[in-house]
Amino acid sequence: MSNVALLGGTPVRNIAIPWTNTMGEEEKAAVVKVMESGTLSAFLGRAGDGFLGGPKVKEIEQMFANRFGAKYGISLNSATTALHAAVAACEIGPGDEVLVSPYTMSATATAILMNNAVPVFVDICADTYNLNPNEIEKWLTPRTKAVIVTNLFGLPGNLPEIVRIARKYGLYVIEDNAQAPGANINGKQAGTFGDVSIFSLNYHKVIHSGEGGIILTDNQKLAYRCQLIRNHGEVVLDDLDDDETVVLGSNYRMTELHAAIGIEQLKKLDGFLVMRRALADKLTAGLKAFNGLQGVTVPVGYEHSYYVYPIQFDKSVWGIKRATFAAAMKAEGFPLGIGYVKPIYLMKIFQHKKVYNQTQYPFSLITDPAQKYQKGICPVVESMYDERLLSADVCRIPYCEQDINDFLTAVEKVWQSCQELYEYEKNNIFGS
Ligand SMILES: *Cc1c(COP(=O)(O)O)cnc(C)c1O
Repeated sequence: MSNVALLGGTPVRNIAIPWTNTMGEEEKAAVVKVMESGTLSAFLGRAGDGFLGGPKVKEIEQMFANRFGAKYGISLNSATTALHAAVAACEIGPGDEVLVSPYTMSATATAILMNNAVPVFVDICADTYNLNPNEIEKWLTPRTKAVIVTNLFGLPGNLPEIVRIARKYGLYVIEDNAQAPGANINGKQAGTFGDVSIFSLNYHKVIHSGEGGIILTDNQKLAYRCQLIRNHGEVVLDDLDDDETVVLGSNYRMTELHAAIGIEQLKKLDGFLVMRRALADKLTAGLKAFNGLQGVTVPVGYEHSYYVYPIQFDKSVWGIKRATFAAAMKAEGFPLGIGYVKPIYLMKIFQHKKVYNQTQYPFSLITDPAQKYQKGICPVVESMYDERLLSADVCRIPYCEQDINDFLTAVEKVWQSCQELYEYEKNNIFGS
């Protein structure tokens, strides 16, 4: 008789810890103040007063710039629109190629397509999950304009090396820092290495305002272009004495309410990070007792912000499938993410190359593309997705040290029952 919950034993935890409201009195009071002022947005889609919005959006922009160490902050209504604006600000468009990891949220790559440029996918390092600088040069063409680096799961990519290579070839570096606010390399903040970076305030992230995004840059021209793209730039430019700049704008504006919430959340970021790092360090130490489960390795000088906690599973050590391990952990009360996301180039939109209805645009602009999106182009990403990666959501509020102990107890229970689980999976577990 097995003791694991999947095979009838008692679970370590009866109910998985649900999503928790992290909004406090500070956020509530800030929202009420904006409501009472009546100014829920102060943007106007024309030059002059109102082009840059009201007091709260200006305040959050300044706070982000100060906290992370950048000259300019631009608030937007999401990190997805921020990515679109950042790529457009770098004057990337039809016929250009942009390097990006396929192991990131789809928005990182679709921002390229939204600008009618073509993504070229670069494999990752197996220990950091971030874009491998040594894989960049093999994909360069005369059309390559930029590299987008996602600081995945909360760990900065090898930004010093990527920036060095990018400078050599005259490429822009855009950082997708949606998952890594406060992560850093020797104190230099993730989101300040590239030419421009984006942060997310979506409700899944380390800090949030429901929805929202922030762009940081030291480059005045990029900041100006982002402001124009955020707020109907084509109209604004017609009123300005500026014949150099041409942009197609949109409405990517943040409301005063979301800015007010985001301001209070940013004040709490450092406290959240202390907690996340303490839980993650405990988990990393505990996982060392298990072969075939590789926790996080943080490179020397780096600090992680643990948006999620990735774990690599080795089937050859455990003798059971990753899916069986995950099912057993879920039964113990610890659901795990399996595989993270499908390598982006395997998504239908790339396989069928249908972005604009039935046309092959923008792919059709390039007759000798660097890449055809075939399976096998990023083998490390594919092995993470197909076989190795699991993610644990145990560093967030309201998890505590006892939960990490329980998590490790659950892992030990599953390890003890591997033989029975192996028999069980033959008839019951689907997937790899
Ligand atoms: C969440 C996320 C985004 C998009 O953020 P939104 O604010 O939801 O648009 C972009 N990139 C990465 C890596 C993300 O995790």
